[in-house]
Formats: sequence, C-alpha cells, structure tokens
Amino acid sequence: MTIDTDRPELRNGFPPQQQQPPGLTSDMDPLPDHGEDSYEGHGRLQGLRTLITGGDSGIGRAVALAYAREGADVAFTYLPEEKPDADRTTELVEAAGVTCRAIEADLRTSAACDQVVAETVEALGGLDVLVNNAGYQMAREEAVEDLTDENISRTLTTNLEALLWMCRAAVPHLGEGASIINVSSIQAFSPSTALLDYAATKAGINNLTVNLAAQLGPRGIRVNAVAPGPIWTPLQPATQSTEKLEVFGQETPLGRAGQPAEVAPAFVFLASRAEASYVSGTVLGVTGGKPVF
Ligand code: NAD
Ligand code: MG
Repeated sequence: MTIDTDRPELRNGFPPQQQQPPGLTSDMDPLPDHGEDSYEGHGRLQGLRTLITGGDSGIGRAVALAYAREGADVAFTYLPEEKPDADRTTELVEAAGVTCRAIEADLRTSAACDQVVAETVEALGGLDVLVNNAGYQMAREEAVEDLTDENISRTLTTNLEALLWMCRAAVPHLGEGASIINVSSIQAFSPSTALLDYAATKAGINNLTVNLAAQLGPRGIRVNAVAPGPIWTPLQPATQSTEKLEVFGQETPLGRAGQPAEVAPAFVFLASRAEASYVSGTVLGVTGGKPVF
C-alpha cells in the first residue's frame, strides 16, 4: 500500500496552529502519516535490537513502526510531556508482535544517556542499532547578538552533546554488523538564518558521522546519517511561525512537505545488514529534491 501524498495541505499549506516544544501529535492539524496504514514489513530487520531516541513522535515514531514491522525489537526515549505520544508508539510497536520498551529521559546529561543504554540492553538483551533521532530547534527572527546562553546550550546539548554521549554509552555493546544512524537535516547543507544554532549542529552531525564511521569501521560497525527535508512532525508547529507553516515544504523541487512515513524506509535500509553491508560514512538525503552536498 502506498501513502497518500496527494493530501491538499502538503501542497496548499498547513492551517494556522502553534504549540510549545516538544509538541504533541494529537494537537496537529492534520495528523501526520507514520505509515500506520501503509508500511509493510518483510522481515528485513528480524531479531535486531534497536534504540531510537525521541521515538514517541514524528520521524522517530515512523522509524519505530517500520523497524517493528520488519521484525526488530524497539526501545525508544521520550520526554515526560510526551507520554501520550509514547503510549501510541508503544501500541504500534507491540501490535507488530515484537518487544517494546519506552524510556522516559531528558538526554541533556551524560548520566541520562548512560541510563537509557543500560535500560535498553537490559530490556532487549543487547543492542544492534542506535538511531540518534532526538533533536531540538527554535526558529528565531532575532539576530545572533540576541541569542541567550539558554537558547544556545539547549540546541547544542540536545543535538550534539547528547548524540556523543549516546554513542559513547552504546558502542561497547555494539558488535560486528551493528550500526549507528544519526539524524542530520537539509539545514546542514542549506542553512536558514532563523535556525543559526540548529543548522550548525546538523553540520556537526555530518562531520561526526563520517569520522565515527572511520573510527568504528575496523570493528565492523557502520555509521550513517539521514538528512530529512521539511517533514510534517510536532517539531514544526512547536518551533516555526504560522506564516512558515503556510508554505512549509513548498520550496522543494517536489513542491510539498514530506510525511514521517516517507523518511522511515531510509532508516530501514541503513539498518539492514544485508542491504547496507557496505554503506558507511554516508549522509542519505530525503529532502523532496534539495541537494545534500
Ligand atoms: P519530533 O518533535 O517528533 O521529534 C523530536 C524528538 O526529540 C521529540 O519527540 C523528543 O522526544 C526529542 N527530544 C527533544 N529534546 C529532547 C531532550 N532534551 N531529551 C530527549 N529527547 C528530546 O520531530 P521530528 O521532526 O520527527 O524530529 C526528529 C529529528 O529529525 C530531529 O533530530 C530533527 O532535528 C530532525 N529533522 C526534522 C526535520 C523536519 O522537518 N521535521 C527536518 C530535518 C531534520
Ligand atoms: Mg515528540
């Protein structure tokens, strides 16, 4: 079954709406498509033990659903405010007949990251795939001199420090054939001034992906990134103005925003030992046609 990419809002703009970060799926109009009615698994990740940060909603939920339907066990993290979203993801993963563990955690301390990995290994009996998907952005009209310390550190700690802490905690558990998948962004290649700090973290994630692939390659561990373009997730109404949402995605060559369900297959491919066995150190764009180089 294919997903419905002809929904009018994808081309004609999203209705006015605003949320506070991290945002909830149920408050979005329209609801995003995570592949609930369309994703068909084919056992491509059978028995893999996977951990997805920020798997309660958006891209992370679509990845959790796809991984579960491909036969993987799934642990994922969520913030306390996101419990309703986390419950829905758990429902979707468990419906696929695999093990699910939802872990409440704010990843902005190394201790929390250590704890998340330890709990995952305990719940799933090990770890084969780490998806560093949690991320934070806030679009700002102000210039660089108006950024507060809190603005800067929230973005950098969530997107870069936590990602390094997660890798540091996870790698001792990863064996030959395991992989790490980071979430980059079109912003790493084509930055918006309103996302100054965020775009820089995504460029940093690209650099880290390549370098970590070089460091872990000799141990048989692959490291890749997915760079999404504009995708309809809670992050958007929680961090972009209504004017931006009105035209969200329309600047892409495909002329529309993407759905989380359209990004998840890239994560399935990169996690698959059979299909991506020689793919490491790459950034795979899912951008609606915008260049990722
Ligand atoms: P989302 O809001 O559904 O997911 C982001 C998740 O990050 C949240 O669910 C939350 O659980 C997690 N998170 C945020 N701060 C955290 C913290 N301090 N501790 C732990 N978890 C935290 O939105 P999404 O768009 O699916 O975002 C997923 C990833 O995709 C992010 O890294 C984002 O930067 C990236 N991305 C999104 C888009 C897009 O257009 N939506 C484009 C490019 C990249
Ligand atoms: Mg969320």
